[in-house]
Amino acid sequence: MIRITNTLSGKKEEFIPLKDGKVKMYVCGPTVYNLIHVGNARPAVVFDSFRRYLEYRGYSVTYVQNFTDIDDKIINAANEEGISTKKLSDRYVAEYFKDACTLGIKPATFHPRTTDFVDEIIDFISDLQEKGFAYFRNGDVYFDVSAFKSYGALSHRKPSDMRSGARIEINESKDDPLDFTLWKAAKAGEPSWNSPWTLGRPGWHIECSVMSSTLLGDSFDIHAGGNDLIFPHHENERAQSEARNGKKWVNYWMHNGMISLKSEKMSKSVGNIFNVREALRVYGPNALRMYLLSKHYRSPIEFSSDRMEEAKAAYDRIANAMDEIKRKIGNDTRVIEDSFLNEWRSRMIEALDDDFNTPQAFSVIFELVREALLTNDRERLAKIRTLLIEWNYFLGFDFEKKNINADGFVETLVKLRDDARIRKDYKQADAIREKLKKLGVEIRDSSDGTHWRWI
Ligand SMILES: [Zn+2]
Repeated sequence: MIRITNTLSGKKEEFIPLKDGKVKMYVCGPTVYNLIHVGNARPAVVFDSFRRYLEYRGYSVTYVQNFTDIDDKIINAANEEGISTKKLSDRYVAEYFKDACTLGIKPATFHPRTTDFVDEIIDFISDLQEKGFAYFRNGDVYFDVSAFKSYGALSHRKPSDMRSGARIEINESKDDPLDFTLWKAAKAGEPSWNSPWTLGRPGWHIECSVMSSTLLGDSFDIHAGGNDLIFPHHENERAQSEARNGKKWVNYWMHNGMISLKSEKMSKSVGNIFNVREALRVYGPNALRMYLLSKHYRSPIEFSSDRMEEAKAAYDRIANAMDEIKRKIGNDTRVIEDSFLNEWRSRMIEALDDDFNTPQAFSVIFELVREALLTNDRERLAKIRTLLIEWNYFLGFDFEKKNINADGFVETLVKLRDDARIRKDYKQADAIREKLKKLGVEIRDSSDGTHWRWI
């Protein structure tokens, strides 16, 4: 029996899907205006792993993770570069997939983008207006929070308490400080769409309500994301969806904790590796997955080079055990099902069924790994390897290191060549340049260092 902590009730609940054997799940994805950082990678990795655990437990999972491809940050970044928001967001969607692929994240069933759903968004807002949950004021359309009775239920806040601290910005003309924008009139030079109201664009929250109902239906099983999204984003998504559909929208809300950088001074080096691309280059995907999965998904975690080194060492213990087994028994994998396998499987399931307790799962794994180092029994070793490979379906490690990050590899070679040049070992430097050329990499030396590009 799988149990998960449901933010809506604040309790650990038995997971019962709407349809036997099927799970529909929506996870809020990144706003695509730059490369992702480790904080963005946490929900992506944790819920990827949870989704795969559900599959391991026999469910068929429809998994949706969106891209927010229109908002103020995207407009500003595109303006700075003098390119369209479409060009900018296309670039960072591609960059996201590069990192996600290196990190071993399984693609979602659907990866919808906001701007592909503008017609559906307009229909949805029109429905809200017809039902008396939205009003048009000075070019914008707002959601009327006072019309939705259970507003605040997800974030466990009372609207009256929230109102006391809130204020209406000078440029807004809404009735209540808690009311939020569904449709925004476009400012000059901003991307905009025709609508029954004004030339404009969707507000922030509406896209997730619309894309989830279009792709998963008006009610679905699990909605997940970072706990920084509980209020206002998820509270508002819930209000919009339940107001329009008149029924319960989501049965289970799962939220991951935040990653903090505060305990270590935000030195330049930590800032650099907080960028996923850089963390992958320095530590590799396995250490980063280990870092993100070794703590319980709901706990806050700290990010630092020490924590990453620890994660790398922890992953290495598992990888070394795999190597050790290979050394002892080769690739012989004949395994007969027996109570040993089933006992360990039950222990793993017991850990992960309990609110996806990955720290407990890793303690089971490390116990098994210790056993691998202590025994020379071929059958036992083959069984241990079978379990590790089986569980890797949801852990998502790359034991074979097939997914080696090509950019990181190139940078290492470039660095080696620089070192050779400093040592005046031009023969070695030229040999590396030739090797890079064969890999399809062109390098150029200039006064500010060596530059390289794929050709
Ligand atoms: Zn969302």
